[in-house]
Amino acid sequence: MLDFEIAQQRLAQGARPVTGTTSIGLSEASGRVLAETIIAGVDLPPGDNSAMDGYAIRYCDFASDVSLPIQQRCFAGDMPAPLIAGQATRVFTGSLIPEGADTVVMQEYAVEQDGGVRFTEAPRSGQHVRLRGEDIAAGQPLLDVGTRISPAHIALLASQGIAEVRVFDRLRVGILTTGDELVAPGQLRAPQQIFNSNAAMLAALVEGMGAQAAEVVHAADDEQALREALSSLVAQCDLVLTVGGVSVGERDLIKPVLESLGGDLALWKVRMKPGKPMALAHVNGKPVVCLPGNPGSVYAVFTVMVTPLIRRMQGRAEVFPLVARIPLRTERTLHEAREVFLRVRYVLNDQGIAELLPYGSQGAGNIGAMPGANGLARLAADVAVSDRDRVAYYDLQRWLV
Ligand code: AMP
Ligand code: MG
Repeated sequence: MLDFEIAQQRLAQGARPVTGTTSIGLSEASGRVLAETIIAGVDLPPGDNSAMDGYAIRYCDFASDVSLPIQQRCFAGDMPAPLIAGQATRVFTGSLIPEGADTVVMQEYAVEQDGGVRFTEAPRSGQHVRLRGEDIAAGQPLLDVGTRISPAHIALLASQGIAEVRVFDRLRVGILTTGDELVAPGQLRAPQQIFNSNAAMLAALVEGMGAQAAEVVHAADDEQALREALSSLVAQCDLVLTVGGVSVGERDLIKPVLESLGGDLALWKVRMKPGKPMALAHVNGKPVVCLPGNPGSVYAVFTVMVTPLIRRMQGRAEVFPLVARIPLRTERTLHEAREVFLRVRYVLNDQGIAELLPYGSQGAGNIGAMPGANGLARLAADVAVSDRDRVAYYDLQRWLV
């Protein structure tokens, strides 16, 4: 049996990142992986400007009950003239601060009368002025290679005037499901058949990570059909995922087929539940990951074992998302010789403290409880876990993106 951590590491290192890159516009950049470093080209803000609607003055010109003549009105987007000593400039949020001014008084503390303004409260020197470069200074490193671009990154890029970025090409993932008993949803099902749920689920999981489910193929449990499907997927994709047919049943043909294609195959009995068996092979240098067939196993194994490999191949810097330690609620003490991944719901108790509740049936073949669980709790092998003990929590919202 292979230790979970070791298997996870080996998988994550099972392939190199894609090398192809493309330049794309910001409107298409969300979720893509940056393939260049971004250095700030301009100061932000580019000039001193007002954080409030009000009046820009020299701090030293303030005196209570003294009215300062209003020299000019400067709207956001206007270029103000230098401030004449002893006068004020009417400004608005985002207006440039005229040269010579250093302080803004909010309009709420100002009384405008006969072309002049007096203030009802003493200002603090420099207040309500956003200084040039105080947010971002030109020359400052902004983003690294491997950043997965979020809406916040897009705001940052746009604020720099950057319209296009270089990103890694989308990872092309091929999916092969196997089994004589399976029929595609939408097709007629014979009584001895079941609908193929893994194909659509895996395609959605892959797309949810920003990769491309480039080819989704089903093959019967037949050596010839499997060999053809696999060699075509390997030729067209960066990574191939196979489902089922990898245990030791008489019709479990994935292993001999991969070997006949020249794959260096490592078959693992990973010390985890659900999950074993699984395999990693390389055919013509392309990684092929073989997953067990039960949909519950596919979901869990994909989450904890396959997503790090996908993230690495996508060129992402963060391969292993955070794993929090959170108290688990359990009526009985749990103790197993394998790592156990329980489907759980993350809830808040009366005091607003996070807890994990085991959710629904835990059977590897069961799909009914999958949508209601929002994470996986990992119980370490050979460790007794009692009510409220902290366990590792794999949050699907972190791990499946
Ligand atoms: P296998 O590893 O091929 O023996 O499959 C294990 C179990 O998972 C069997 O009960 C299969 O019917 C089921 N299974 C395999 N592939 C799929 C699939 N694509 N969709 C739904 N169930 C599947
Ligand atoms: Mg099968």
